[in-house]
Amino acid sequence: MSFLQLSGVSKFYGDTCAVADMNLSVEKGEFVSLLGPSGCGKTTTLQMIAGFEPVTRGRIELDARDITQAKANTRGLGIVFQSYALFPHMTVEANVSFGLEMRKMAKAERLDRVRHALSLVHLDQHARRYPRELSGGQRQRVALARALVIEPPVLLLDEPLSNLDAKLREEMQFELRQIQRKVGTTTVMVTHDQSEAMSVSDRVVVMEAGRATQIDHPFQVYEHPRTRFISTFVGKANLLEGRIEGEDDMQAVRVGSLSVPMFEPGFRPGSAVLLAVRPEKLQLVPAGAGRLDGQVIERFFLGSQWLYRLSTPVGELTVLCANDGRIVLEEGAQSAIDWPDSCTRVLPVDQGALA
Ligand code: ATP
Repeated sequence: MSFLQLSGVSKFYGDTCAVADMNLSVEKGEFVSLLGPSGCGKTTTLQMIAGFEPVTRGRIELDARDITQAKANTRGLGIVFQSYALFPHMTVEANVSFGLEMRKMAKAERLDRVRHALSLVHLDQHARRYPRELSGGQRQRVALARALVIEPPVLLLDEPLSNLDAKLREEMQFELRQIQRKVGTTTVMVTHDQSEAMSVSDRVVVMEAGRATQIDHPFQVYEHPRTRFISTFVGKANLLEGRIEGEDDMQAVRVGSLSVPMFEPGFRPGSAVLLAVRPEKLQLVPAGAGRLDGQVIERFFLGSQWLYRLSTPVGELTVLCANDGRIVLEEGAQSAIDWPDSCTRVLPVDQGALA
């Protein structure tokens, strides 16, 4: 059994289903993110793990102990919210020490632990400061130290970085991951930011309308999204409407005049599907030399890349090309688009497409 296990966990608020039949196994030391748009049930899931929200159905186990009905304060979990919730009248040191005092830990050990936690988040020099004397990133690190100092079996993070500006947020993502690796605390983080989830997590749980629709390594989520929603929520994708032709292991997707080989099994012959391909997997080649001819409608310079929008016989496509220091195609230019066979993914339009 996994260290933290959710089995068939559901949460209803009256008639509203916030979380539906969630099954999740988190291994000891793993960093798992709950990722999804606003209202998909991320926070509710975290609150049920924390013990702040009762579970309507299902079971939560921690280290082989059923904690479904256990009170929050008996679970001993570390929690960091988006609003750091530091005590403003207490120094950094006192804020971090507070949880240990509540646990009646002897002073010498307490000081030792606080010192260690503060050095972990690089705040040893600021132990005597008050929260108002710290930057946003430093306050967030105090909140993290305060959660880690109790050495919780599981650390729960709810949008811990969303109050920080973009640059600081990126730095903190990196730091958060380093600290988590160092202490090895099993961590579950809620975020709606796909790049944050991808960069810090061992595995990502993508949630849609209360359901976990994919639980995978970030690379798998990006390269093999299981639903249309995931293909565009995690990164960008061109989606072409098509139909499955052929049977069994000889299947292809028909998109207009194109027949695109496919490698995913399990689709019903003749069913409507979407062919997904990432913009950076498409290549611009001379007109007539690719699978699809097209015309450049617009182009945008993004610094390290150029983004092109092309009209083609099967619809508009977005292409991302590395900026190699040259201006390649003007707006209005004729071009063609090609891609390696292995780069396309077939997604069901609805459940009827799956055999
Ligand atoms: P966000 O990113 O906006 O915080 P979320 O994915 O964390 O969203 P939840 O806060 O878990 O989503 O909410 C899931 C669903 O449950 C939403 O439809 C929300 O309106 C509903 N919900 C949450 N808390 C309550 C409540 N106390 N009473 C009624 N409905 C609630």
